[in-house]
Amino acid sequence: MFLFKKCIRCNGDMYTDDDYFGKFIKCLACGYTINLPEEKAKKVKTKNKSARKIAV
Ligand SMILES: [Zn+2]
Repeated sequence: MFLFKKCIRCNGDMYTDDDYFGKFIKCLACGYTINLPEEKAKKVKTKNKSARKIAV
């Protein structure tokens, strides 16, 4: 997706992209990059309390 004349640095055209770290907007002209806030990866905490009671 392209964002025309959205660069705050040079007023150039920007485009949205994403990589391993998340989404970002990058300027085609100067390379200025803005990281987009994205909902953080859901932390799945699995509390696995396996209390073993060994009866002797
Ligand atoms: Zn720019």
